Parts: sequence; C-alpha cells; structure tokens
Amino acid sequence: MKNSIRHSIGSRLFFYVLSGALVGLGSMSYFFYQALESRAKNEIQGNLSTQVESIEAELSRVEQSLNNLSATVKTLSQQKISEPQIYKALVFDLLQQGSPLTTGFGFGQTPFKVVTERQWYWPYFYLDKNTPGQIGTRLPPPHEDIRYAELAQEDEYYRQEYYTKVLAGGKNVWLEPYQWHGITMTTYTGPIFNDRREALGVAGLDVNVTAIGEEVKAPVTWGGGYFVILSEQGNLLAYPPNPDKAKALATYWDIPQLKDVWQQIGKHQSGMIFTPGKYWAYQRIEGTNWLMLAAVPQSVVLRPVLAITVGGALGAGAVLALVVTLFVRQLNRRLKPILEECKRLAADNAQKASRFTQDETIASDNNQQQLFDQQPADELEVLEHSFHQMASQLKASFEELELRVEERTAELKQAKELADAANRAKSEFLTNMSHELRTPLNGILGYAQILQRSQSLAKREKQGIEIIRQCGQHLLTLINDVLDLSKIEAQKLELQPIDFHLPSFLQNVAEICRIKAEQKGLSLIYQPDLHLPGGIRADEKRLRQVLINLLGNAVKFTDTGSVTFLVKCQKLEGNKDCPSIYKIRFQVEDTGVGIASDQLDRIFLPFEQTGDAKKQSEGTGLGLAISQKIVQLMNSTLNVQSQLGQGSIFWFDVELLEAKEWAKSSRISNQGVIVGIQDQQPKILIVDDLWENRSVIVSLLKPIGFEVFEAFNGQEGLQKASQLQPDLIITDLTMPVMDGYEMLKQIRQLPELAHTPVIVSSASVFESDKYKSLDAGANEFLPKPVQIDSLLEALAKHLKLTWVYAERSDVVETQQTTELESESAQIIPPPLEDLILLHDLSRKGLIKDLLKEVERLENFDRKFIPFTQQLRQFAREFQLRQIRTFVEHYLPTN
Ligand code: ADP
Repeated sequence: MKNSIRHSIGSRLFFYVLSGALVGLGSMSYFFYQALESRAKNEIQGNLSTQVESIEAELSRVEQSLNNLSATVKTLSQQKISEPQIYKALVFDLLQQGSPLTTGFGFGQTPFKVVTERQWYWPYFYLDKNTPGQIGTRLPPPHEDIRYAELAQEDEYYRQEYYTKVLAGGKNVWLEPYQWHGITMTTYTGPIFNDRREALGVAGLDVNVTAIGEEVKAPVTWGGGYFVILSEQGNLLAYPPNPDKAKALATYWDIPQLKDVWQQIGKHQSGMIFTPGKYWAYQRIEGTNWLMLAAVPQSVVLRPVLAITVGGALGAGAVLALVVTLFVRQLNRRLKPILEECKRLAADNAQKASRFTQDETIASDNNQQQLFDQQPADELEVLEHSFHQMASQLKASFEELELRVEERTAELKQAKELADAANRAKSEFLTNMSHELRTPLNGILGYAQILQRSQSLAKREKQGIEIIRQCGQHLLTLINDVLDLSKIEAQKLELQPIDFHLPSFLQNVAEICRIKAEQKGLSLIYQPDLHLPGGIRADEKRLRQVLINLLGNAVKFTDTGSVTFLVKCQKLEGNKDCPSIYKIRFQVEDTGVGIASDQLDRIFLPFEQTGDAKKQSEGTGLGLAISQKIVQLMNSTLNVQSQLGQGSIFWFDVELLEAKEWAKSSRISNQGVIVGIQDQQPKILIVDDLWENRSVIVSLLKPIGFEVFEAFNGQEGLQKASQLQPDLIITDLTMPVMDGYEMLKQIRQLPELAHTPVIVSSASVFESDKYKSLDAGANEFLPKPVQIDSLLEALAKHLKLTWVYAERSDVVETQQTTELESESAQIIPPPLEDLILLHDLSRKGLIKDLLKEVERLENFDRKFIPFTQQLRQFAREFQLRQIRTFVEHYLPTN
C-alpha cells in the first residue's frame, strides 16, 4: 500500500520540517554571525591596541635615552667640562644602555658650546653593518660591531637638515624613515638648551624601524590577519604580506587596498573600516604619529559561522530525518488498519448500495471509488475519499432510517390511540362499576349501622351484622382504592392544592392513627419539627391519604413496640416578597414484622401483599401502590428500608410552598372572604391540650375580630371560663387532668355558664362520643380535623353573627339565622342511595348528570323540592364543594 502512494505524508512532512528547520537555522546563523562579527571586531581592535602600546613603550625607551643624553650634556657643559673624550665616552655608554632598537647615537654641538676648543663636534657611535663604504672607524674588540664617526668631518653636520631644522624647530622630532643598508631607519632628534635657553647643540638617535616591523609579524587573531605600520607620510614601515615593500620603503600608493584605506582614515586617530573582504582596524602611535593597521580577512570571521550553520543544518537534518522517519513509520502503522477498514467498508457499502438502489449518489460514489483505485493518493486523501463515501452512504442509510421511523411512528401513534381508547374504556368501566357497586354497598352499610342500633336484635345477630358492616366497609375501601388507582393510571388524578395549617393537620393525622395504635397496645410517637411552617400549599386530602396509609400499615404490621411519625423540614429559599419553599420529610418508623429484602420492590405494586395472611386480609394491597403514585405526583418517591423481624421505615421528601395567607383562604365562602364581624367582638375560649389544634383556631378567628383565649385542659378551661365569661367555648374531649366531658358537665352546673354555647371538636371516630358529648351539654359536635366552613357556620349559628366580606362593599347577612334553621327544618333529604349518588356525581364534577338526578327526585316526590332547590342553586354557580358539603350533611357520618 505504501508503494502505491506517490507523495507520502512522510516525504512531505520531511520536506516541510527540513525546510522549516533550515529557515530557522539560517536566521539563527544570521544572528550568530552578527554576534561573532562584533566580537571579532572587538578582538581585532584589542589586539591592535596591545601592539600599539608595546611599540609605544619601546619608542618611549628610545625617547628616554635621547632625553638622558641631552640632560647629561647640559649638566656637563654647565660644569664647564669640555674634554671631547668625556663626551665621547658618555655617548658610548648611553648607546650601550639604550633600547635594542637604537642603531646609532650621538650629539653635535653648536660652535664652541660644549667642547669649547672646537667649533664643530659630533661624536657618533653606530652599529656596524659590515658593508663597504661605511663612515668612521670600527672599535677594537670586544666592540668591533660598533663604529665611531666624527660627524663634523664625515658628514659636515652643520650643513645637514637634521641639525639646522631641529635647532630652528626647538623641539624633539621623529624624522621621516629612510633606507639604510637594507634596513629602514628613522631618526629621533632634539635640541639641547642650557638654563638660559641657549642652544648647546642637537642630540640624535637612529632607530631600526625594520626591527619594529619584525615584532609585529604575528597574525592579528588565531584565524589570521596581519599588522601594517605606515609612517606619517604614508611610507610602509611594516608590511608582513610583502616585507620587501617595507624594506624598499614603498608608500601606500603602491598597494591599492592601502590607498583606499589611507584615504578613508584621513586624519582620524583610531577606528574600524570595512573594505571588500577585509576588516581594517587602525590606531596612531603616539609620538611618531605613525599609523598602525590590523587587517583581517572577512573569511576569518565568517568561517566559524559557516561551520556552525552547516554543521547545525546537517546535524538537525540528520536528527529530523530520523524523527520524521520514525514518526511516519508509526503513522503508517496506525493508519494502515484504518485505511484498510475504510476500503473494506467502502467496498462493502458500494456492493450493498448497488444491490439496494441504482440511485445517482451511489453511482457517483462508485465513480469516486474507481478514481480512488486508479489514482494513488496520499494517506489522508485515501481517508478523505473513504469518509466521503461513507458519509454519502450514511446519508442514504439515514434517509431510509427516517422513512422507517416515520412508518413506525405512525404505527405507534395508531397503537397509542388504541391503547388510550382501551384505557379510557377501562377507566369508564371501573368508574361505572364502582358506582354500581357502591350504591348497593352504601345501602348495606347504612342499614347495617341502623340495625346495629336496634334494641330488638340478639347478640349473635348483632355480631353477624357487625361482620356484614366490616365486610362492606372492606369492600368499599377496595372499590375506592381501585377507583383511585385507575384514575391515577389513566392520568386523571390531579392534585388539588389548597392552603392549610400544617401543624394541626399533622397532629390530626397522628391522632387518628393513635387511636388504632393504642387499641393494639402500641405507642404512637409523633415528633414534629420545631420549625414547621404554619400554612402550606398542598393537596391536603391526598397527603392525608398517604400518611394515613403509611401510619395505618405501621400499626397494622406491628404487634409490640411503637410507631414513630417523624416530620422534619428545611427551608430552601424565599424572602419577604416571595413565599418560602420548604423541603419536608415525612417518615414513619415501626418496630413491626419488617419486610424481606426480596419483597421490598414488590410492595409498591398493586395487589402485592407479603407476609402474614391474616394481616393481608385486613388490607387490599393497593395502599402503597396508590401512595407511591400520589407521592410521585408530588415530584418525589416513597422510599422504604426494612429488616425482617426488626421493623420498617417508610419516608418521602416533598418540596412545598409556604402559604402565609392560609387562614384567609380558608375563610372564603360563597359571598367572598370573611374579614370581620359586624358590631361584635365575641370572646372565644379554646380548650385543647395540643397547641397545634389551638393555634389553627386562633389563627383563623383572631384576624376576623374574635377575642380568643386558650386553655390546655378541662380544669384550666373551667377556671378561665368562669373568669372570662366567654361567649362561646370550643373544646376537645381527650385531655389530661380533666377531660372535655367532665368540664362540660361542670360548666352546665354553673349558673353563669349554663347557657354558654359549647362546640366539641374531637378526632374521635366513634359515633358514641358525638352523642355522649351532646348529652353532656355540648351544642355542636365537629369532627377533627375541623372543617373551617363548618366551624364558621357553627359560630355564626350559635352567636348570631353577621359577617363582613371583603369582596363586596356592603355587608351581607349570613344565612345562619333562625330563618335558616326553620328552612333547614323543612328540608327533607332523599334516601341514602340517592344521596350517595349525588355526592359521587358532585365529586366527579358531572353537573349535567347531577341535574338529571335532581329532576328525577323532584318528579319522584315533591317533598324533596326544598332539598333539590338548594342543590340547583349550587349547581348553577358550579359550587361543587358546596354541593358535597351540603349532601354530606345528610349522609351518615361513618
Ligand atoms: P395493604 O392494604 O395490604 O396494607 P399496602 O399496599 O399498603 O397494602 O401494602 C402492601 C404490603 O406491603 C403489605 O401487604 C405488607 O406486606 C407490606 N407492608 C406495608 N407496610 C408495611 C410495614 N410497615 N411493615 C411490614 N410490611 C409492610
């Protein structure tokens, strides 16, 4: 496969990476070159400076010798010493001590000034050059390399420039170099003055310039280059590339490069010049004013840069080549299976596609496939082709899939419609069935209760009737549960949230269950959270149903120990403007039989019952299924934890909205919200041991203008009643210290309280308690939880109140007057089964059916007309709740 690729990614990668690397290296070398060049320039200038300094040091020794001679001559002449031998010896000594560069030494006097007996005198010693025609005489050994000449005779110095000019100039000068016996020489001369500034003569000293040139033969840097010395006039004093030129005292004119440089330098003292191929550093030598140059070819600087660049490029190239090769090999290894897979898929799909359809897209894909087969491309192109092909094939597949999905959706829609219809039919059937079953059942239950009160029946018969009642009750529960469940399943059950007082609600739930628990000898522990909100918004009825189911089960499945009802709450959010949300946990714990772990999941299924058969018979197996559904409607789940033989814990968490205005919403009646009482402020005494029960009534009544007092047992109630003389007393029955009966009895015996109306409000489910309390002197019995409208109704009735409503500006008289009493006396309710039917129809909201039933009743017997008229009015206003309360009023309490 690799061979079939014309331009493999590897080769391209290699090319790109290497060129990138070269560009990088090139620019790096450029900067490197800059750095090296400036370093090299500094080095050249440094070396030149060193050389200049060393020459200057040598020349200053020369100058020192001349100065010594001048000074000594001056001193001797001042001491009037004029023997020529002394001066001759002085010159010889100083030559011996002087710089090795010195080749000749001496001084010449002005007429009669030093050696007074002579007019001209110039003793001169110089190094013998062993060449013919030299002046003077050679000294005897050991100084045979030195010659002595008397320049007065030999050179007639007084006629020479080196005497006349120097005297005229009055200062030391370096004369222009000259050729002398194959070497270049120069002369350093200076006048000698005495203290009176009279000229004594001229001292002169010859210097071997060629020897200086020898000293600067070494290359400028380790890489090469040479030093050049030019006289002030531009004569070559040292020129290592061609020493002969220097010997011949050629000038810069003879060397074109130097000519160029000379012109560029002009009068400058030191600096750097660049001519093609060469760097020139220059500096003047102090005193002589000679120009010293250091010439370095550019190649000397360039060579290391080149070496680094080329070396670096080669090295980097080699490393990169290796890396790229390895990378490409790795890449190819990884790509190979993918490419092969792509090809295989492409081939497969192409086959399938051609089998499926002759569609244009596929045809063009096949063209691509051919193209891909014929023209070798690089790895990515192969991938691109394959993906292209796969994409179009996928598109085709998706289109097909979409088509199928559409078909399936249509089928499913049809199936769903059928299922919905079936479900509707099921719900309708269940509703009708339950109605059909409940009507006779209510007859059975009603008459069972009536018969139970009969005095003429024997004990056994009564037992039989009790069994009938219990079975009927069980059947009724079952029917109600089935109806509930079917409603939930048909998604017809909707929560109907209302605002209510949570603490009293919970207290009542606990009270209802406590009665059953205590009958079994169990203790029911109710532990409410200390920070429970007052009012909340929830479906009170459904919440009660769930809690009673859980508590009922706990009591049912526990034989010893206790049942604990825990309510915990946590405020989630909220501020002054918007109501708070509370997360509330309801938890029921028992010490009962527990549930086996393998049964835990099943207990929430309808008709699932586990464990003891006897206990099963007490229930329907629907409670938890319904409770779970209700809790789910509240956006939560019912959880369970249980251990066989140890007990169970059921709990659920719900988020509920706080309802600060719950009391107000509870006071909404037909005419509007009750906000006050006209012209009265009745005093009410509430006697109840539980604060929750007291607080619900206080919160309800206080805002409308009642003066409310509390007592927490019968005895305190009695005491407060005699003390406060309330207009009405509301009391519980079961209380510590003194119960409600006892208190009632005693109240009725007190003349001042004998006629005070007393409303008994109790959670007792026993009918007997109602009668007992009425016997003891109560005016009204209200079952707990207190129905607010019933309470208000009772208050209005017994205190003859006129409510003030918020919605209407005028004051509406309540119907709760004697007038109503007389009217209600005329109302004759229809038989029980008709009442149940009416109740049921109102519950379902079937107003039309209800009106039909009303009509039937009116036609059946005219005595029912007052009853039906009231119903008609409520129905017209669609007051379903009122209809229910109205009908319930005539139904047996059980
Ligand atoms: P039932 O009407 O039978 O009580 P439920 O749906 O309320 O129906 O409960 C289903 C089954 O779950 C019960 O039959 C019982 O086996 C089990 N169960 C429910 N609550 C408890 C409990 N607190 N302790 C033990 N078992 C329980």
